[in-house]
Amino acid sequence: MAKFIFVTGGVLSSLGKGITAASLGTLLELRGYKVIIKKFDPYLNVDPGTMSPFQHGEVYVTEDGAETDLDLGHYERFLTSYTNRDCNITTGKIYNHVIEKERKGDYLGATVQVIPHITDEIKNNIRKLSDQYDIVIVEIGGTVGDIESLPFLESIRQIKFDLNESDVLYIHVTLVPYIKSAGELKTKPTQHSVRDLREIGIQPDILVCRSEYPLNDSIRKKIALFCNVSKDSVINAIDASSIYQVPLLMNNEGIDRIVLNKLKLPERGYSLEKWEDIVFRLNNPEDTVTIGVVGKYVDLKDAYISLNEALIHGGIKNRLKVNIKWIDAEDLEKIPSDKFFEDVDGILVPGGFGDRGIEGKINAVNYARVKDIPFFGICLGMQCAVIEFARNVLKYDGANSVEFNQKTPYPVIDYMNEQKNIKKLGGTMRLGAYKCSIKEDTLAYKSYGTTEIMERHRHRLEFNNKYTEDIVKAGMTISGFNVERGLVEIVEIKSHRWFLGCQFHPEFKSKPTAPHPLFSSFILASYKNKKDSNEKGSQL
Ligand code: GLN
Repeated sequence: MAKFIFVTGGVLSSLGKGITAASLGTLLELRGYKVIIKKFDPYLNVDPGTMSPFQHGEVYVTEDGAETDLDLGHYERFLTSYTNRDCNITTGKIYNHVIEKERKGDYLGATVQVIPHITDEIKNNIRKLSDQYDIVIVEIGGTVGDIESLPFLESIRQIKFDLNESDVLYIHVTLVPYIKSAGELKTKPTQHSVRDLREIGIQPDILVCRSEYPLNDSIRKKIALFCNVSKDSVINAIDASSIYQVPLLMNNEGIDRIVLNKLKLPERGYSLEKWEDIVFRLNNPEDTVTIGVVGKYVDLKDAYISLNEALIHGGIKNRLKVNIKWIDAEDLEKIPSDKFFEDVDGILVPGGFGDRGIEGKINAVNYARVKDIPFFGICLGMQCAVIEFARNVLKYDGANSVEFNQKTPYPVIDYMNEQKNIKKLGGTMRLGAYKCSIKEDTLAYKSYGTTEIMERHRHRLEFNNKYTEDIVKAGMTISGFNVERGLVEIVEIKSHRWFLGCQFHPEFKSKPTAPHPLFSSFILASYKNKKDSNEKGSQL
């Protein structure tokens, strides 16, 4: 039977609970344990699929098509295992199921209550699939003290008594702030947060203390004393230069050894080489490359977190530091002037919804195509590439996606039949992994090195096959295709130095340990472009 590790957060949000859980998972995997991480979120949305990225950051999509919290992206980037739809549970999902059961009469006349019915449902979800793993890490969203996370905390309190004591471990992530005027690190917020946790019956076994400066011995002693944990269980999570350094820092603090001892699991040999190499490459790049990302949510970096990471992974692969220049698509709505792109080696248009900034994105594609700058279009970015090509190469005046103009004379991007009558927006897009066949002798084939791939989707609209012949004749290649559904998945322009648009989201499957081939290839092409431009510049 699996052992369970629960990760809660105190003091304030954004302390990196997700990265802590993922890093611990990495270390336990390196020690040969089969690990999965789940996230329990206290909000009422059934899933984050309908939430704006401005509110909630990126919506991460799993292989089996669940729209989930962005922390699942971290779990997949750090671990070798895939997450799935049972790995992200919200209060909305729990209540939905309990109310459904109540309406069916499954509770046989009982008064349905938070305790035990909601807590039982939460515990069932914690245990689901656990028999396939050695260790299940469960991250509880929100901060201890929030009203809405109480049923989750009550459930994880109970679970210790359902199982054996050595099968359950509680880790609490807190903040030890540095107060400039006093010149000191302060432990009081941590003490209060642990007191709140103990009030609801949970005694943390390990404290992960985020701090700007190292915790010295006396601070560790003080925290241990006031929070009722042993001193070596006070783990210092000092601010790291990269999230990929965190597993190494946590290993240095001994967290994996302490966890295994407390769970009465053998320590087993391990090697950190893979992660040391990643951090070495990040800290010692041979050169830099700059990618201009033209999007709508550029002020909120969490909205493009997987994309951001996948670009960094492409840099790791090529030993390059990737600088990302975020460009607001609305600023490009008039003809994009060179000033936006003069310091950019490659242009990327990511996924998105709604028409805000859409003409700016199409202008960015045009700029990249005409000036022969490496271009990578993802989902909406691919759709923009097709629209631009139809308008400016085929001279289809007013060509558009019906998402933005229902009356366009040239609907080059359109809804498939199954999407036409959809009324409920939650969970109804084309979601999750689909097969894609790759044509040989194309950029896609050169990048992937195979003819069959699986990539994840999250969109409603598709390339309109009515225009395939015209578009192909005019010089756009369809290099990726979903045979079962007859859908275009990848387009490229052969005469261009690197121009590729894909209907799926490759960024969801990139890991620092296995950078995605399209990102690696795009970064390399952008770097070559930089070198060529520098050479041209020096010849003038
Ligand atoms: N809005 C487009 C669609 O629904 C693209 C979605 C996306 O980029 N994820 O098809």
